[in-house]
Amino acid sequence: MAMICERCKREMFKYETCDYCGRKIDNNCMKASQKISKTVRLVICKDDWSKMPMRSAYKNKQVPARQEAAKK
Ligand SMILES: [Zn+2]
Ligand SMILES: [Zn+2]
Repeated sequence: MAMICERCKREMFKYETCDYCGRKIDNNCMKASQKISKTVRLVICKDDWSKMPMRSAYKNKQVPARQEAAKK
């Protein structure tokens, strides 16, 4: 079943969840991703990439909004 990208509203069949705004986005809206541990992967969307605090958090491998969830 197709889903709708929460950023560009296009249909997508595979999605990523942005770790900074929590939206489900397609490949087109994803700016970058990196593995920070064996089980944790960070995804950042193009909107958050343009915000300096978000971008530096990504580069420092921090997830401000979801830090609590990541600890579990
Ligand atoms: Zn999109
Ligand atoms: Zn985002």
